[in-house]
Amino acid sequence: MKKIALLGSTGSIGQQTLDIVASNPDLFSVEVLTANNNANLLIDQALKFMPNVVIIGNETKYPEVKEALSELPIKVYAGCDAIAQVVEMGSIDTVVTAMVGYSGLLPTIRAVKAGKQIALANKETLVVAGDLVTRLAMEYRAEILPIDSEHSAIFQCLVGEADNSVEKIILTCSGGPFHGKSAEQLSKVTVKEALKHPNWDMGAKITIDSATLMNKGFEVIEAKWLFGLKPEQIDVVVHPQSIIHSMVQFCDGSIKAQLGLPDMRIPIQFALGYPIRIKNSLARFNFTDHVTFTFTTPDTKNFRNLALSYEALNKGGNLACVLNASNEITVKAFLNEKISFTEIAKINEQVMEMVPFVGHPELNDYMESDKSARIYAEEVIQKRLKTNI
Ligand code: MG
Repeated sequence: MKKIALLGSTGSIGQQTLDIVASNPDLFSVEVLTANNNANLLIDQALKFMPNVVIIGNETKYPEVKEALSELPIKVYAGCDAIAQVVEMGSIDTVVTAMVGYSGLLPTIRAVKAGKQIALANKETLVVAGDLVTRLAMEYRAEILPIDSEHSAIFQCLVGEADNSVEKIILTCSGGPFHGKSAEQLSKVTVKEALKHPNWDMGAKITIDSATLMNKGFEVIEAKWLFGLKPEQIDVVVHPQSIIHSMVQFCDGSIKAQLGLPDMRIPIQFALGYPIRIKNSLARFNFTDHVTFTFTTPDTKNFRNLALSYEALNKGGNLACVLNASNEITVKAFLNEKISFTEIAKINEQVMEMVPFVGHPELNDYMESDKSARIYAEEVIQKRLKTNI
């Protein structure tokens, strides 16, 4: 029986993780549930899964959660510090990090230092501080298992290949809803259009990141740290069918791929069950339903975020952290209809030039860089709003 702490239980990955737990009560139990804001769903989940501890990030919602669970033997806490602390609990085997954005960094570092197994869905942790987090994971012998579908695919292709050398990996990319659109067309994209992903059903932040190719850029960075690769060993290919989830090319030219229907429950289940594959009754892929697989090069000219990620990887230091922080602000501004779709990448690029470069950042430097990138991004947005009026 594996005991799980699920950080970000009310989001898309969090809910699907609980689906897997519910389908496999003899394999998994929930020790901790945390959510940022959605108190109602957190309460429902706590009543169903009976964890030992429940934490709500937003402290103003504490009384509501506490009251709803007061009759039960569940400890209720609130705030980000509590979330970062709880991962150290002795009874936890695996920490599933499914929260959104930068907020995943500190709890993940605490979990790594406590030597916990990490099932990593919060890719921003490795984007922001991949160097630090992977160094700590080695030092504290904390295993990091990817949940991101592309990285799960690569991880699955690498099983049994420990002694063999990888030439490169090929991350597949659906291209998002706007693949093939011109700069002119992209500048007029609405929030509603951007929130419709052709293949995957995900949260709002990652859906916009998929549409701008920021998500793919982050995945390139995530792959570098997870698999110890050089930037030039990571290719991206647009595969709109989203059936091949990614590939590994070995030193003999052989390519291994992992395929399946786009359903996040498969990579979540693989991470939770690893090294065992767990039988399930999810829908199966059928080759005769998908007779055409296509592959094209991503458009890094009109989708600048992908190019910015390679730039951040090549230059290293705090640049990816800055890109992530700026992007959290610009995506929010786009969702609030303050900036256009194409301004997301434009402002990200500006902010990368504004924040002072730190070559070998430690945790404090990352925290500082994150803070100043957010301030600069807000400033650029305010300036643009003023000139647009
Ligand atoms: Mg992915």
